[in-house]
Amino acid sequence: MKISLFNGGRLGVVLGDEVADVSHVLDRLPGYRYPLPRYDLLIAALPALRPHIENEVAHAARYALAEVALESPVANPAKLVAAPVNYQAHLDEAIADEATFSRAHVRRIQETGLFLKATSSLVGASANIVIGLPDRRTDHEIELAAIIGKSAKNVSAAEALDYVAGYCIGLDITIRGPEERSLRKSLDSYSVLGPWLVTADEIDDPARLDLALDVNDEPRQRANTRDLIMNVGELIEFASKFYTLEPGDVVFTGTPEGVGPIQPGDTVRASIDKIGTIRMAVTE
Ligand code: MN
Repeated sequence: MKISLFNGGRLGVVLGDEVADVSHVLDRLPGYRYPLPRYDLLIAALPALRPHIENEVAHAARYALAEVALESPVANPAKLVAAPVNYQAHLDEAIADEATFSRAHVRRIQETGLFLKATSSLVGASANIVIGLPDRRTDHEIELAAIIGKSAKNVSAAEALDYVAGYCIGLDITIRGPEERSLRKSLDSYSVLGPWLVTADEIDDPARLDLALDVNDEPRQRANTRDLIMNVGELIEFASKFYTLEPGDVVFTGTPEGVGPIQPGDTVRASIDKIGTIRMAVTE
């Protein structure tokens, strides 16, 4: 099932080139009062809500996908966890780029570990990528993003995929330079999730997905998740040794080779097998 949020927090199921509005199902979420739990309420409830979503689809109003505004399919993630260089070919290109190479930052993922991106940087596929610091080089990074479905602590790689609610295309937009990753990758709109969440039952092997990113129809990144140094399960094992992962937490799995600069006026198109395609404008 392809779950979307659109037009100001409406809940949708994507069917071909349409989205069915199943927002009534949101009324079934438990009522909360302050303080709210620190996880995404919809993602946490998704297994229980799924039969109701399926019932609702049959008589739901439908809209053309081209005419709705797609938001991040996870509205309130508590954490955006991200893997640094996690493809060998991207590690090689990062070391070779003398303009931006930083010995402190470019190491094997097993040594570097993971980092967090600010949740305030998160947008959906209908947003623009807004270049925040125009005098700095800003690069595109396409990544498979795994969305955690239930609380995970000290989970083994072998069982980790049982904790995944679904997958999205992730963009980890990045200013190059010497500062901490969490700073350079956390400007508003520099984390993109979309175009929707594909539930994990539709992706039997997340380590066999083609990724492609073009800028202005020029091919930039072409890869397959089979070349991840640490795969989705291993990343969740690693992350859950440090963090308690909660429903709605996002794991950006790292970008392959072919990263390059973007600037206002560009159009970025990103696709991942079995998920979909997003097209975004880059603006000032
Ligand atoms: Mn990245």
